Amino acid sequence: MNKKFEEIVSLCKRRGFVYPTSEIYGGIASSYDYGPLGVQLLKNIKDLWWKEFIEKRADMVGIDSQIILHPKTWEASGHVGGFDELVVEDIVTNKRYRVDHLIENFIEKHKGFQELVVEDLTREEMAKFIVENKLKSPDGNTFSQPKKFDLLMRTSIGVLEGGKDDVYLRGETAQGIFSNFKNILDSTRVVLPFGVGQIGKSFRNEVTLGQFVFRTFEFEQAEIEYFFDPEKSNWEELLNAWKENMKNFVVNTLGVNEENTRWRKHTDKERSHYSKETFDLDYKFPFGWKELWGVAYRTNYDLNQHIKYSGAKLQYTDPYTSEKIVPHVIEPAVGVNRMFFMVLDNAYTVEETRVVLKLSPKLAPYKIAVFPLVSNKEEITKKAKQVFELLSDKYNTYWDDRGNIGKRYKYQDEIGTPYCITIDYDTLETGEVTVRDRDTMLQKKILIKNLDSYCKEQLM
Ligand code: ATP
Repeated sequence: MNKKFEEIVSLCKRRGFVYPTSEIYGGIASSYDYGPLGVQLLKNIKDLWWKEFIEKRADMVGIDSQIILHPKTWEASGHVGGFDELVVEDIVTNKRYRVDHLIENFIEKHKGFQELVVEDLTREEMAKFIVENKLKSPDGNTFSQPKKFDLLMRTSIGVLEGGKDDVYLRGETAQGIFSNFKNILDSTRVVLPFGVGQIGKSFRNEVTLGQFVFRTFEFEQAEIEYFFDPEKSNWEELLNAWKENMKNFVVNTLGVNEENTRWRKHTDKERSHYSKETFDLDYKFPFGWKELWGVAYRTNYDLNQHIKYSGAKLQYTDPYTSEKIVPHVIEPAVGVNRMFFMVLDNAYTVEETRVVLKLSPKLAPYKIAVFPLVSNKEEITKKAKQVFELLSDKYNTYWDDRGNIGKRYKYQDEIGTPYCITIDYDTLETGEVTVRDRDTMLQKKILIKNLDSYCKEQLM
């Protein structure tokens, strides 16, 4: 772990963004709980995504499907038998490693492999690479023969003993959109091109561990299927428009430094056989450039597969010409927890005297903190409570009357609160409070009666 990565993980725990799951029992690998600050930051990210891609657009609708879908869904989608990774086991510790990740690490550290693109290697070539280059595990041991490792998580449902059905926890949210395609057509007035979005939990039996919330067994995805008629809309134009939307969301809505983002086009060998074009929007995470958000032109492969496996008529009928087609899709799919990690990494700033999270006000878990200068003066507490009530109706506001003001500022800086407001003896006489700006640390006197409009101007 590099220093910044370690510091972010530590701040997350210290200030209540992220805790290791079941810590009192020794924890579970790659599982994290979100604390009081983390849950609010995650919610803010999801709300911004929903607003931008569902609410603000006339051509988009949202759904919320189940985590457990009919198991045939996953046969149709190709996940059963085809959603796996090539892994090797350390023959002493039995720890598993993803072969592509081992090769990626190896070529980063050794000269002479600059030309090699791991994504282009077949599974046989990857297996050969491990043997020929004598790759060792991080514990210095040799590996077992490579084998396939299923990423889909299985469970069973049913109340009768012996009468349980095997099912899967969804490996992506997208399939719940495809399986509801007909319901959406029948119950709404959508016309092509239109999109369906969903935010929800997905599950994968991941092999590579130790990347904090970047890669976990249980995570949240925000996925869109944008349906269109390839005879009437140009897929390249639609794909480019979605690429622009994604970048715009990351840079302008989430306020992430554009220099730490890049596009990576999937190579022909790497791309799924049904996809005509795939791009990843990568972010420079503390452990290197990694996929944040993928966008793929998936043709009408998924709908056709569901037609084949379910027998349902998943066609779209043109309301003007009555022509029937099976629409094609562009799929932008992002992990909410990866966005969460990205915005923290982007905001984390170490200054001479403090650590400060320079989160955009839209993202900050708390927008304002209200401090009575002292906690033992009834008039001051009363006035501060009035200010808190005035603001907390509109903005998520933190109340803190503990300890000295310096410590209270330090805490709010570390959790990214844009403004701190202090009520003191002067306030009782003049009606003015002290407003301190997180980024500049400058303080200003503002009349209580002007606070609402001041905050609106600064925070909206
Ligand atoms: P990776 O190559 O990093 O495993 P992927 O290409 O398998 O990712 P997709 O199947 O395209 O990922 O899923 C869409 C998005 O879901 C990804 O861009 C990523 O942001 C998120 N995601 C996928 N797997 C995980 C995970 N295990 N933990 C957190 N987020 C994930």
